[in-house]
Amino acid sequence: MPETLDIRVPDLGDYADVPVIEIPVAPGQPVAKDQTLLVVESDKATLDIPSPAAGRLVEMLVGLGDAVSAGTLVARLTVEAPEVRTEPAPAPAPAAPPPKPQAEAGCDLLVIGGGPGGYSAAFRAADLGQRVILVERDATLGGVCLNVGCIPSKALLHVAAVTEEAVRLAAHGISFGAPTVDLEKLRSFKAGTVRRLTDGLAQMARQRKVEVIRGTARFTGPSAVSVALHGGDTRDVTFASAIVAAGSSPVALAMLPDDPRIVDSTGALELPFVPRRLLVIGGGIIGLEMATVYSALGARVDVVERLPNLLEGVDRDLVAVWMKRNAHRFDRIRTGTEVMAAEATPEGIAVSIAGEAEPQTYDLVLQAAGRRPNGANLGLDAAGVVLDGGFVPVDAQMRTNVPHILAIGDLNGQPMLAHKAVHQGHVAAEVAAGHRAGFDAAVIPSVAYTDPEIAWVGLTETAAKASGRAVEVARFPWAASGRAIANGADYGLTKLLFDAQTKRVVGGAIVGPSAGDMIGEVALGIEMGADATDIARTIHPHPTLGETIGLAAEAGLGLCTDLPPVGRR
Ligand code: FAD
Repeated sequence: MPETLDIRVPDLGDYADVPVIEIPVAPGQPVAKDQTLLVVESDKATLDIPSPAAGRLVEMLVGLGDAVSAGTLVARLTVEAPEVRTEPAPAPAPAAPPPKPQAEAGCDLLVIGGGPGGYSAAFRAADLGQRVILVERDATLGGVCLNVGCIPSKALLHVAAVTEEAVRLAAHGISFGAPTVDLEKLRSFKAGTVRRLTDGLAQMARQRKVEVIRGTARFTGPSAVSVALHGGDTRDVTFASAIVAAGSSPVALAMLPDDPRIVDSTGALELPFVPRRLLVIGGGIIGLEMATVYSALGARVDVVERLPNLLEGVDRDLVAVWMKRNAHRFDRIRTGTEVMAAEATPEGIAVSIAGEAEPQTYDLVLQAAGRRPNGANLGLDAAGVVLDGGFVPVDAQMRTNVPHILAIGDLNGQPMLAHKAVHQGHVAAEVAAGHRAGFDAAVIPSVAYTDPEIAWVGLTETAAKASGRAVEVARFPWAASGRAIANGADYGLTKLLFDAQTKRVVGGAIVGPSAGDMIGEVALGIEMGADATDIARTIHPHPTLGETIGLAAEAGLGLCTDLPPVGRR
């Protein structure tokens, strides 16, 4: 029989009448031993009040702002396990059946999805001492990012960039001859890159004693899931907390027929063949990265984008640089229009585009028109979790409306980026383990790993203008960078935005090789509240492309000596 356990505030040292500032658990929720029930704050420190036992919270007797002292009755738990009682347990009746072993399928934390969000959450929670079960429906850990996203695409983009750079070197006196493509070898290089990382994850899960169950999880209640195992069996798992990290899938356009010559990003990364003509539907990051790969392999590429611009959301001056460098790849870039219909013919896929009289025929069509969250097939309604258009809304602690169920990564909203998922995974693991944590990142950088790369973070000039926010814009053209000229990248541009009043950096964007590697400095500057002087007076190594960030800040302050004097630019 469950017993009720009164929870009282422990000895607070010299403090009395301290206010409750956080209540991370709600009545009805299961709690683990040592999980934080309340946080109180004195004028010197905050203090977590942990649960002395595992059980279920029946009643919370205090509210936010209430003053408590040592001995104040704050909550009531029901506890099942006799060993966690505060008084000696009576000896069990000899005839009583043994309690159902919970250890078999129960855990402190269940994580659904082994992508960047899920594995990061599982590993962090295990490092915090939680007993973690991770359920993943695919054969390997790593999710979209490692298996069919960030990593294989970057392996191919690296090859594309080197191939094109080698061709460009002919202008500097070094010729290698025309590249020949061995698709089989390229596929195996890509697969080897992915395998190395996914094998590493499996090993790290073992080292942390995270139990990985291969199968598809579905909620059957607020503290239980049923996992359909790959062999056909099912396994029930109960948990004190759960982190749902089920990710997203490519949007499939309804007007496209079912044909192997029409692929999404996963299909395109398999490199089925090098098409003569490729149509990319969607001019966002994923579409343009794949366009870069196929173009480097020899395809001619067309792009159709519904929005008025490619890379919507990036400032036009940077996109203009990108367009100039990429003009050679494309036969046609059609923006502000859309694909109306497509027909599979023996010659190829005949695609009708709005506003065009004749359909165009392509050997391969890539649909890269966005991704949708995987919220619908998890049975979340059985747990009482509310969805919003397939996304799972969360608070800053990554908690859903059911506080012991958290959701992270692509599943909880935009931007759908791996580094956001990882960061949220760590926050969610810490919250689930009873720590005080929250997602309070000021900015999340974005990068298109095309050739050249475009990276941006924080406020854009376009958004500042639209919102009427007063900013100062500082630009450093790479034509004035020794390293960029030496590298054949004098077309690049680094731009910083400073708040007009405080002079703090509020945004930045870079177009040029390695832009993605450099944008982190701008993100750090924004997070740290750095102003133009902080960035300009930080000595950057010379000659580097990263130096252009310091030089842009100098330009903003009017003290850059690598540019013509102010007034003559
Ligand atoms: P996912 O990686 O989608 O992982 C979710 C996991 O949950 C999957 O493994 C899935 O099998 C599993 N799952 C789902 N439902 C269940 C269930 N019911 N039971 C068990 N398991 C389940 N982002 C970047 O930041 N940088 C990039 O360069 C980049 N490049 C990309 C390139 C491409 C081509 C694509 C498609 C995406 C790219 N992304 C990139 C986006 C990035 O991959 C995602 O943002 C990231 O993978 C999201 O991580 P996640 O953990 O939220 O979900």
